[in-house]
Amino acid sequence: MTLISRNPADPDDVLVRLTAPGAFAAADAVERARTAQAAWADAGAAARSAALGAVADAVDAAAAELAALAVREVGKPLAEARAEVARTAAIWRYYAQAPYAPTGAVHETAAGPGLLLTRRRPHGVAGLITPWNFPFAIPTWKAAPALAAGNAVVLKPAPEATACAQRLAELVEQALPDGVFTLVPGGATEGGALVSAADVVSFTGSSGVGRSVVRSATARGIPVQAEMGGLNAALVLPDADFGLAAAHIAASIAGYAGQKCTATSRVIAVGAALDPLREALTEALRAVPVGDPAADGTVCGPLITENARAEVASAWRDLPVLAGGSVPDGPGWYAAPTLVEKVAPGHRLLREEVFGPVAALLTAGDLDHAVRLTNAARYGLVTSVHTADLSAALHGLDRLDTGMVRVNAPSTGVDFHLPFGGSKASSFGPREQGQAALDFYTSSRTYTLSP
Ligand code: NAP
Repeated sequence: MTLISRNPADPDDVLVRLTAPGAFAAADAVERARTAQAAWADAGAAARSAALGAVADAVDAAAAELAALAVREVGKPLAEARAEVARTAAIWRYYAQAPYAPTGAVHETAAGPGLLLTRRRPHGVAGLITPWNFPFAIPTWKAAPALAAGNAVVLKPAPEATACAQRLAELVEQALPDGVFTLVPGGATEGGALVSAADVVSFTGSSGVGRSVVRSATARGIPVQAEMGGLNAALVLPDADFGLAAAHIAASIAGYAGQKCTATSRVIAVGAALDPLREALTEALRAVPVGDPAADGTVCGPLITENARAEVASAWRDLPVLAGGSVPDGPGWYAAPTLVEKVAPGHRLLREEVFGPVAALLTAGDLDHAVRLTNAARYGLVTSVHTADLSAALHGLDRLDTGMVRVNAPSTGVDFHLPFGGSKASSFGPREQGQAALDFYTSSRTYTLSP
C-alpha cells in the first residue's frame, strides 16, 4: 500500500509518499521492542525520568517547527497547533516525574512475621494506534506513561499525520535507548498486526475501528483501552449568559473545523433559551474566521480529506440552515461552520458522529428533557452545560451519562492530568491520562516475604 499524506489546505502539497511496511514489519518491530524492554524496565527511575525530560526539552526546542508541521499536514490552525505542541512538552514533563512515584505498598501479614508487598510492573510492549487530529499530543499521552512505567512502545499513527509522527519519533528516539520506541507508519494492516503482537494496546480513533481493535485484543486476553467518537451536546438553560454560551459553543462547533472528539454537535436549548440562543449562536458562527490554517486568527481550517468534506456537506442537505451550509471555493477542503434546526429524531446528525463543523439546534421543555435527549445518543464522551444556576448544573452532572461534564465552558479542552474518557460507544476500558494511564500500563503483583 502506498501511503500519501498531503496538506488539506493545499492538496497539491504532498508531505509524505511511502510504501507501508506491511504486517510482518509491524510484528517484527514488536519483537525487537520486546528485547529492548527488559533493560529499560530495569534501568531505574533516574534514567527513565531523565529520558522523558529530555524529550520534553527537545519538543520545546523544536516547538515552532512542530507547530508549522501540524498546520501543514493536518490543517490545524496555528494558535491551536502551538497550544498542542506546548501541551505535548508538558505531558512528557509531567510523566518524567512518574518513575519516582511509589509503585506499590507494604502490608502487615495476617499472622506471624514477614511482609506482604504489592508492586506494579510494566506489561512489556505497548502497541499504540492513534488518529491524525492531535498528531503530537495523543501519541504522547499514550507513550509517555507507557514508557515511564517501563514498557517499550510501538506507535502506528494515522497515515494523514505521518510526517508529524516521524518528527516526534525522531525526538523521542534520540532521548531513549535503541528499540524502546519504534514508529511503524501504515494503515489497518500494520495496525492489525500490532494488535496481534503487542502486550497491551491503546487505541484512539473512530468507534467502528475501535470496536474491532477491542475485539481482537480481548480475544488475546491482553489489556486494551479505546477512546473513540463523540456526539456531544451543549445544554443551554434560560438563565444562561447567552453571549458567553454562544461564544463557547461556536468555538466547540467550529474550532479546528469540528475535528475533535470533544466537538459540540448537538445544541439543546431549554425552554425560553431558544430564541436568544438561536440569535446569539447564529451570529457567533457567522463571525468565525474560516480559512488558511497558517494565518493568525484562523479558527476553522480545512477538513482533513476531500471525502471528509463531502460527508460533512451531505449532513445538512435538506435541513433548514441558520448559519453556514456552504462549501467555500478554492484549493483546500473547507466547509463553513454550520448550524441547522428542525432535525427529525433518527436523522444521521443525531445518530452518528459527523466529524466536521456542523451542529443541530434542538429544543427541550425542561432540564430533565434535555438530559434525556443528551443520553439518547449511543455515544457518551462530554457534555457542556450553560447556566447561572449551580444547583441546576449539579442536577445535570448527576444524570448525564457522559464521561466528562463541563459547566459554562466549551465542550472541547483537555486537562492532561485528569482521567479522560467517556461511556457507551465513546470509550472502552480504563481511562487515559493522569494516574489512570500509569495504572493501565502496569499490572499489580503481590509478594509474600517470609523470614
Ligand atoms: P480511524 O479511521 O478510526 O483511525 C484511527 C487509527 O486506527 C488510524 O491509525 C487507522 O489507520 C487505524 N486503523 C484503521 N483500521 C484498523 C484496524 N483494523 N486495526 C488497527 N488499526 C486500524 O480514526 P481517524 O479518522 O484517524 O480519527 C478520527 C476519529 O478519532 C473520530 O471518530 C474522533 O472522534 C476520534 N477521536 C477520539 C478521541 C478520544 O480521545 N475519544 C480523540 C481524537 C479522535 P488508517 O487510517 O490507515 O485506517
